[in-house]
Amino acid sequence: MQFDVAQLLREPIGSERAYTIPSEILALEPEQTAQAGGEVRVTRTDKGVWVHGSIDAIVATQCSRCLKNVTERLSFDLDEEYLQRLDLVSGAPVSEDDTDLDSFKLDDRHTLDLREAIRQYIIASQPMSPVCKATCTGLCPQCGTDLNRRQCSCSREQTDSQLDPRWSALRELMPKNQKTNQVQRQVR
Ligand SMILES: [Zn+2]
Ligand SMILES: [Zn+2]
Repeated sequence: MQFDVAQLLREPIGSERAYTIPSEILALEPEQTAQAGGEVRVTRTDKGVWVHGSIDAIVATQCSRCLKNVTERLSFDLDEEYLQRLDLVSGAPVSEDDTDLDSFKLDDRHTLDLREAIRQYIIASQPMSPVCKATCTGLCPQCGTDLNRRQCSCSREQTDSQLDPRWSALRELMPKNQKTNQVQRQVR
């Protein structure tokens, strides 16, 4: 995911190179990785290079409901300008205006490093709550049983699962019509 573009920077604006990005493993977050690769075109601009291409990634993550390991396939277009930090001829730093601060930069040896951009694009393209299957029933919030595999004997009454289980003994002592209100007041 790193390419030397020094030669391209010596060429006129609009000059192009095509690169194949060999598949590489990227760390996204602790315990989450992605394998990504693709094809890009790199075009010389007045300030650096413009990268445009398509990336395919396989993300290894966990189901947000049952915590099972799952892999997700993602495909997206990469579209970013990388600015030159040093002038190719003089070696002097290129002056930046405010709009350049958030842009990706080539390094001081004119290397185009696509890893951080691809990492950010993968994170942005991922679903917020990945699931192993749309119908995943997840884990029982009380006993942790994987409800995809078997049922447990815990109560599925919604109020029960939202209440602190330590109050259940107290709840049994109360007259039925007062139960819910009083217990909720206690929990708060
Ligand atoms: Zn699941
Ligand atoms: Zn349970």
